[in-house]
Amino acid sequence: MDIKEEAVSRCDEGDVSIIPTEPTPGEPAAEVRQEPPDLSPAGLRKLRGQYFTVRHIPLEACGHKMDVINEPRHRNCENCWWQFLNFHPQLVSTVDEAWREHGKEFVIRLRGRQFAKMYGRFMATVIALKEQEKNALQISESASQEIRQTESDGTNSIQG
Ligand SMILES: [Zn+2]
Repeated sequence: MDIKEEAVSRCDEGDVSIIPTEPTPGEPAAEVRQEPPDLSPAGLRKLRGQYFTVRHIPLEACGHKMDVINEPRHRNCENCWWQFLNFHPQLVSTVDEAWREHGKEFVIRLRGRQFAKMYGRFMATVIALKEQEKNALQISESASQEIRQTESDGTNSIQG
């Protein structure tokens, strides 16, 4: 082990994968000291609280609790689906792609008929909201009357 070798190893910070270096014994470089997880009953309770308390979020609009991991239990509740899909933008973009490329039947086979139906409504609402935003920029005062009208109608509105 001479000075030259030490200088080389000091140079290659980061690009270790490109330059094959022989493992130098006794070097603790990559080893990060990490506390082992506390798996005692008390520790588990704490961990569980940390990871799972957000699993069920009470929804104001419909009074149901949203399961952030599984699809809504209330299969026909548009608000539940709306919140659920809003919570999973990655899922939405994946399904959007699948739908556009392979059609609705493919999405049905992928996630089920109810999902496809509620997803369709979700997207329709998203598009409608975007349109509303666009219109709101163009028209100002006179439009607010119309919007108020559709809101009091209520049945189709699933926005929080
Ligand atoms: Zn609901």
